[in-house]
Amino acid sequence: IYQNGHVARFPSFNSGGKIPLGLKRKGLRIVVTGGAGFVGSHLVDRLMGRGDSVIVVDNFFTGRKENVMHHFGNPRFELIRHDVVEPLLLEVDQIYHLACPASPVHYKHNPVKTIKTNVVGTLNMLGLAKRVGARFLLTSTSEVYGDPLQHPQVETYWGNVNPIGVRSCYDEGKRTAETLTMDYHRGAGVEVRIARIFNTYGPRMCIDDGRVVSNFVAQALRKEPLTVYGDGKQTRSFQFVSDLVEGLMRLMEGEHVGPFNLGNPGEFTMLELAQVVQETIDPNAKIEFRPNTEDDPHKRKPDISKAKELLGWEPKVPLRKGLPMMVTDFSQRIFGDHKERGS
Ligand code: NAD
Ligand code: UDP
Ligand code: UDP
Repeated sequence: IYQNGHVARFPSFNSGGKIPLGLKRKGLRIVVTGGAGFVGSHLVDRLMGRGDSVIVVDNFFTGRKENVMHHFGNPRFELIRHDVVEPLLLEVDQIYHLACPASPVHYKHNPVKTIKTNVVGTLNMLGLAKRVGARFLLTSTSEVYGDPLQHPQVETYWGNVNPIGVRSCYDEGKRTAETLTMDYHRGAGVEVRIARIFNTYGPRMCIDDGRVVSNFVAQALRKEPLTVYGDGKQTRSFQFVSDLVEGLMRLMEGEHVGPFNLGNPGEFTMLELAQVVQETIDPNAKIEFRPNTEDDPHKRKPDISKAKELLGWEPKVPLRKGLPMMVTDFSQRIFGDHKERGS
């Protein structure tokens, strides 16, 4: 745990930089950047449940205190309002680097900031990992494959990304973040892990973040038409958040750098997704077609053979099981306290 000569920061252990024999550290010290967001907060719950000490670093661009406030008062939990674009000094064992808006509506809102977050933010967290000898996990994305010419996507595929389009700030930002991660690994010996995450849904997503699952669920609950963009024949593969968190933790604890696809291979067209939402919430929900957004990938489905083989991981929750759990959370937030806490 105490790599590179770093010493325990807990006062009772601070005896000349060595842990006294017989005294075992309980749990790890873990930073989760973006830990107040959708995926991050579920990861924090698992790490806290395991007995680790968790520091959430978040600037609350799309994250919310409500996602982690159940840990307030626990001495193993800390929340720091901080933008990862600025340097940060901490002493930790592991860094889960999630900080970055994930919804196209959010990441296109201030594209230059999205690039800075992915490039400078990732550089800072890698610099931190190097300084304290921490293990670093990057949450990259299926977007590195762009509008893929290979289907399903395997990790060895280099992708088909438009470098000058409206999605590039995110796609190219994450590709650069992967490059930085590998260069710190090769050049500075930092222990790294890379996850390429495919579309993930579940409780605590921002209600109005513009992503397709959150849009359809909120629309069906509010008795509004489901907005299908384009002809609705484009596909995505939807993963429930608990499956993703399990995959991220296995990747961090395992021996393999990656990159690893983490996603559910169950592939749906947007029209099929609308149908599942109708079945789950309201069979009478109407569908309304809208123009599609620029550079929208036509299809996306992970090949997860590598994660199955090397991490012993595969998703367990199919869309029809996961969606109802999200609906319960969304209806509580939309109707329960008469207060919508969107982004
Ligand atoms: P999210 O928007 O809910 O969470 C991102 C968190 O990062 C938020 O809490 C936000 O406030 C914080 N953040 C953003 N910029 C920051 C900055 N400069 N400094 C500090 N904090 C900052 O999104 P999510 O769905 O939880 O995604 C988490 C990570 O997973 C992201 O890196 C995203 O790119 C990746 N990912 C998610 C999906 C998905 O479908 N959810 C798919 C692929 C990749
Ligand atoms: N950094 C940080 N926290 C640390 C160590 C480094 O935020 O604990 C930042 C540092 O400010 C720099 C980046 O990480 O901008 C890269 O650090 P590194 O030491 O690799 O490079 P250098 O500082 O030599 O450019
Ligand atoms: N989409 C849709 N209706 C919506 C929002 C999105 O049909 O209300 C489509 C969008 O055009 C894309 C797919 O759903 O083809 C997934 O979009 P999302 O923004 O959720 O994530 P992406 O995979 O594009 O990052």
